[in-house]
Amino acid sequence: MKPGASSASTAAIASAADMRTCISCGRPKPVSEFSKHSGFSDGRRSTCKQCYNKAQKSDLYRFFRKIYVTQKASSAKRGHPTPDYSLDELIIWAHAQPQLPALWQAYQDTGHLRYLAPSFDRIDSNLPYSLGNLDLVTWGENDRRGTRDLKFGSKITKHKAVAAFNKDGSLHKAYLSLHEAARDVGGNPTNIQRVADGAIITKPDGRTTTLRSTKGFIWGWTQPVQYRGKYQGQADRPIPAILEL
Ligand SMILES: [Zn+2]
Repeated sequence: MKPGASSASTAAIASAADMRTCISCGRPKPVSEFSKHSGFSDGRRSTCKQCYNKAQKSDLYRFFRKIYVTQKASSAKRGHPTPDYSLDELIIWAHAQPQLPALWQAYQDTGHLRYLAPSFDRIDSNLPYSLGNLDLVTWGENDRRGTRDLKFGSKITKHKAVAAFNKDGSLHKAYLSLHEAARDVGGNPTNIQRVADGAIITKPDGRTTTLRSTKGFIWGWTQPVQYRGKYQGQADRPIPAILEL
């Protein structure tokens, strides 16, 4: 037979080889439904992705272990020291929080609704992960707090020092906060923020451009800005050389 040609019998053999049975749900599924893992002799997990994910979210120890791994990775990304507690210490701390049983039960009862997933908020987002800086909340509450901090800047003077530059690049004035800057130039803090963030806008002709100035000035952050929640990472880019004071 020529390469590439097939008969009914070889097709059947090929498809049987691509299937395997999940040891958890007992259903035969395509091999691609089993994630790769070097710890298994054939290089894939023996539980299907669906069962594996469900188990990860139903077992408190595995759920918190996944969060702990994420905390370590995000600390490194932020340039923060690694959490000063072990996984076991984190779990003991979580069990000491009176809200844990209700949080965990609601997460299970809703079939693992992401919004209700237990989540660790850093009370002071400037500081690294430590047991004294943690608050156990739902994922939704953590996200809401991150958005609130971004919008209303609970630590605005610490996070959002900005400077106004003339169009020739010379410094006009540096400010400790967006609101101080907005008051001084008679502008809008949101517009100043958008210019400093390099927000992309769509012009009436449909082309996109970067916002360059508002109230006659070019604006830039004079400190790195740290956003949390879904905005995280968006403003972590380095400040352009022209904006260094
Ligand atoms: Zn399964």
